Amino acid sequence: MTRDDIEIAVGEYCRRMGTDPREWRPKAALIDMDGTLIDSMRNHTAAWKRLSDELGMEASREEFYLYEGMTGRATIRLLYRRARGYEPSDAECDELYARKASYFNEMPRVGVIPGAARMLRLLIGRGVTRVLVTGSRQLSNLDRLDDDFPGAFPHDLRITAADVSQGKPHPEPYLKGMALGGVSPVESLVIENAPLGVESGKASGAFVTAVTTGPVPPEALSEAGADLVFGSMEELADMLPVILGGE
Ligand code: MG
Repeated sequence: MTRDDIEIAVGEYCRRMGTDPREWRPKAALIDMDGTLIDSMRNHTAAWKRLSDELGMEASREEFYLYEGMTGRATIRLLYRRARGYEPSDAECDELYARKASYFNEMPRVGVIPGAARMLRLLIGRGVTRVLVTGSRQLSNLDRLDDDFPGAFPHDLRITAADVSQGKPHPEPYLKGMALGGVSPVESLVIENAPLGVESGKASGAFVTAVTTGPVPPEALSEAGADLVFGSMEELADMLPVILGGE
């Protein structure tokens, strides 16, 4: 990824949005959690696979990487629709999601994504508002953000699965994040690792930066509509000052 690549992507985005690329400065970064900040997707996919196996439902571990961003309820409804032809009630979904969350919690604590802390420090240093926008309601992960990334995510600037009626790929999570951060779509930079999250960000009107941090190939993130796709969070952190502008 070069400075030119970034300038071209920003130029195209600004043309679509009808704004001057020389004036474009994101005021808020809306940031996904799993697979973007913490290296949790391996454990999430293992927990989902364990649950689907126990329910006697055919599912591959890989497919759960592609459902990332959906709420737990939406993933459970998808599994039931496919295997049994009906959708369980919200209460049943929540019970099954609690089981999946307990399997996740039994697994060893995962690390943070390399480069994530540096990326956040750059945003803080530049005065860019940080809003967390996650499809998760996994409290063990939400609780650890303050330890892993001190001061990065004010508690009143967090959108979780509990705050939305429709999860990613619907734009609602990112639109609610913008409302919390007091910014418009064109003032927003989304940072994501999953195709459904990228779709959600695009549909909200934000500039979407995607990072590959797991087995999902970069092409899947481009096809989902990402304005830029980085090979790692370290690479995004290196180039973030160019995206933020004024450099
Ligand atoms: Mg993610």
